[in-house]
Amino acid sequence: MARFTLPRDLYHGKGSLDALKTLKGTKAIIVVGGGSMKRFGFLDKVEAYLKEAGMEVRLFEGVEPDPSVETVMKGAAAMRAFEPDWIVSIGGGSPIDAAKAMWAFYEYPDTTFEELCIPFNFPALRTKAKFCAIPSTSGTATEVTAFSVITDYAKGVKYPLADFNITPDVAIVDPELAETMPAKLTAHTGMDAMTHAVEAYVSTLNCDYTDPLALHAIKMVSENLVKSYHGDMEARAKMHNAQCLAGMAFSNALLGIVHSMAHKTGAAYSGGHIVHGCANAMYLPKVIKYNSKDAAADKRYCEIAAFLGLEASTDALIKHIDNLNRLLDIPSCIKEYEGGIIDEKEFLEKLPKVAELAVGDACTGSNPRAITPEVMEKLLYCCYYNTEVAF
Ligand code: FE
Repeated sequence: MARFTLPRDLYHGKGSLDALKTLKGTKAIIVVGGGSMKRFGFLDKVEAYLKEAGMEVRLFEGVEPDPSVETVMKGAAAMRAFEPDWIVSIGGGSPIDAAKAMWAFYEYPDTTFEELCIPFNFPALRTKAKFCAIPSTSGTATEVTAFSVITDYAKGVKYPLADFNITPDVAIVDPELAETMPAKLTAHTGMDAMTHAVEAYVSTLNCDYTDPLALHAIKMVSENLVKSYHGDMEARAKMHNAQCLAGMAFSNALLGIVHSMAHKTGAAYSGGHIVHGCANAMYLPKVIKYNSKDAAADKRYCEIAAFLGLEASTDALIKHIDNLNRLLDIPSCIKEYEGGIIDEKEFLEKLPKVAELAVGDACTGSNPRAITPEVMEKLLYCCYYNTEVAF
C-alpha cells in the first residue's frame, strides 16, 4: 500500500492571501521569522485578514534560520497559554518548519524529539488546531510537505521530522510574497526545487501520482528560473507554483543522495555554510551521472530530457542542468564555492566522516542506486574538484 497526501486546500495566484479571511475559528497564532514579512507589510495583512475572519490573533515572532529546539519549545508554550485553533505560519522554510514542530508539542506536551524523529510515527494532530502555511520563498515547499527540520545546537544534531500528520491543512501560495526575494536566494531556492523534482522522479518510491507533478515542475523551472533570477515577476510567479508542485511530488516520493550530500556537507566546514539550494545545484549533475549506471534511473532521466524537448539522453539532461547553473552564477564545484571558502585540506580530512554521514542520511534510502561510504567519498571528491564521475 502506498499513500499520497496533500493539504486539504491550496489557494494560489496573486492576492490569494485573501483566503485567510475565510478561515473558520476563534483564535489564531501567527508564527513568523525575522523582519522581512513585517517590513514588506505582509504580516500586518495576515493579522488584519484573520481578525476580519473573526479571530483573536497572537504573534510569535523571531524564528531564526535553521530553527532551534528552544524556539520550538517557546512557541509550543505560547500556544498552550493562548490555545489557538489555527496555527498560521508565514515566511521562508524556517518559520513554517518551526511551527510544524510547535504544533506537535502544543498538542502533545509530553512527547520528545527522539520520539518524533522516528519516521511516520507521529501521534494524530488536529485535536487542538489546524495548520495554514504561507511561503515567501520558492524552494522548500514546506507548505505542502510532510517534513520539518529542527536543530539541537547543544547536541549538534538535526532532527528531521517526517510524517503526513504535519502536512499542512491549508497552503496559500501567493506570488506577491516571493517578489521580495533577492536574486541569489531566487537562484538557490529555484535549484532546490529543481533537485526536489528530479530526485522525486527517479526515487524508488516514484508513482503515477508523483510523476506528472515532478515532470511539470522540472519543465516550469527550466522555463522560468533564469528569467525570475533576472527579475521577471511573471516568471517569479510561475516559479512559486513550480516549487510547490515539486514539493507535492517529493513529499510523497521522497528524495535521493543529492539531498543526503547537501544535508551533511552544509554545516561541516569551518569556512562557512554551503547554502542548501546551491549545494544541491552543484551536486545534482554529478549524482545524475552516478545514478545513470542504474538502468531504470537512466531510463527516467531520458524521459525527463525528452519531456524538456532535449535529446532523450542522460547526458543531455546533465548539460541542461550545468547550463542552468552557469546562467544562475552558481559555481560548478565546492572548491569554487564563494571564492573558495571551503578549505581543500579540511575537506579532504573530513571526507570519510562526511561520506559516512551522507550514506546514513534519511534521503539515501529512496535513491535509485545504492551507495557505500567508499563510493560516496569518490562522489563527494568529484563534487569538490568538478571531476568526471566514472564509477
Ligand atoms: Fe531541498
